[in-house]
Amino acid sequence: MEIKIVGGGLSGAEAAYQLAERGAKVLLFEMRPTSSTPAHKTAYLSELVCSNSLKSQELLNAHGLLKEELRRLGSLLVHTADQSAIPGGKALVVDRDRFAARITEILEGHGNIQVIRQEVREIPEGIVVVATGPLTSGVLAEELKVVTAGDSLSFFDAISPIVDSSSIDMDRAFFGSRYSHDSDDYLNCPLTEEEYEAFYDALMSAQRVDLREFEKTPFFEGCLPIEVMAERGKNTLLFGPMKPVGMVDRRTGREPFAVVQLRRENQAGTMYNMVGFQTKLTWPEQQRVFGLIPALRNASFFRFGSIHRNTFVEGPRVLNEDLSLKAREDLFLAGQITGVEGYMESTAMGLLAGLSALSYGKGVPFTPPPPTTCTGALVRYITTPRKGFQPMNVNFGLLEGYNKKRKEACARRALDDMDAWIRAKDLSMNVSTSS
Ligand SMILES: Cc1cc2nc3c(=O)[nH]c(=O)nc-3n(C[C@H](O)[C@H](O)[C@H](O)COP(=O)(O)OP(=O)(O)OC[C@H]3O[C@@H](n4cnc5c(N)ncnc54)[C@H](O)[C@@H]3O)c2cc1C
Repeated sequence: MEIKIVGGGLSGAEAAYQLAERGAKVLLFEMRPTSSTPAHKTAYLSELVCSNSLKSQELLNAHGLLKEELRRLGSLLVHTADQSAIPGGKALVVDRDRFAARITEILEGHGNIQVIRQEVREIPEGIVVVATGPLTSGVLAEELKVVTAGDSLSFFDAISPIVDSSSIDMDRAFFGSRYSHDSDDYLNCPLTEEEYEAFYDALMSAQRVDLREFEKTPFFEGCLPIEVMAERGKNTLLFGPMKPVGMVDRRTGREPFAVVQLRRENQAGTMYNMVGFQTKLTWPEQQRVFGLIPALRNASFFRFGSIHRNTFVEGPRVLNEDLSLKAREDLFLAGQITGVEGYMESTAMGLLAGLSALSYGKGVPFTPPPPTTCTGALVRYITTPRKGFQPMNVNFGLLEGYNKKRKEACARRALDDMDAWIRAKDLSMNVSTSS
């Protein structure tokens, strides 16, 4: 069986290894060094484009748990990261050159992989995995746009923070939609005039993320960063994402001066999205400034807000749960383009896309790991219909049945369920890097 992979970044490298180790012949197309993205600097496969930290190693942290699942799944990238680790406290921090050089050496030396240094400008025929990442080259992105029916492909994200609902002060919040006070779809966080002024002043003076030239996004009117909107005048937010009109605080019977609306992000109501609060503030500043909203003063965030250059599909519209496209079942997406965010999340979606493409080639249906695992929960996130789909990093709030008070039990169950899935699919594999 021959499978073509387009893109030799994190997810493409992982998919290639999984396929090749299981006997498939892989053609791995990577455009660097002939052509490059604005962020990559080397010709290595699997280059880390920014931080050399793969985040926490702790099992009670979702990033650590995801890595452990990947270790058990036989991930080449996590195995190589473990071997290239440098001191980094509780995080898995790697020597970036050693990490990427070793993966390049393993894949280029693998008997089942042919690495072809060429920009792919048309999606090939046959079984294909597209793993071209957040900076997919322009011509191919146009092709993807056509295959995914136009408006399902985005070139920028606009991510609002997500709050752990158990950390919201419910005495300072009330349910209700605008003009519809008996709905519980939105949780509203009111501010008095004085509280709004303090929030506004802090927002205006808060530190923002420094951007590289290519990251400077042309902000769209519909999704301006909250701080950019605020720059237009002290009252602008009161006519935008903090508009109080039509909202009645049942506890006072009055319309508040300002309101932040939180929208339920999952069925269980454990995660709430701050509607319209996409931002370029640094993470500590988001914690500080959004903590001035009374109901959020002790908020803990599953995800902070951001806006990036990022090519990704609207997964729920175009992806099946085996990561194939609804419009073309022999075409799989892998990595950040699927709508996940982050190095290890992209790796996980590369590993699964590889396994899924292999199953497809064998005519066997592929079901992802259960949503009680980090890997399965990410697949569920990117394939479940939701309003305003935006990319997601791994966090405990995504895991089915997550309960903050039973975090340890949730983490244990994630690993047990992953082990059971590996056994059921007969996927057990030791990473062999001797080739
Ligand atoms: C500037 C930037 C900084 C980031 N920093 C972090 C961070 O610090 N931590 C974190 O967790 N995540 C970070 N991310 C997010 C993300 O996790 C990484 O981008 C990750 O590398 C995504 O993996 P991927 O496999 O989807 O894409 P990539 O690793 O980008 O791989 C895609 C590959 O496809 C190749 N390619 C593109 N188009 C074509 C084509 N037409 N033909 C052939 N090859 C092609 C590219 O050259 C590249 O090698 C960052 C993203 C960006 C853009």
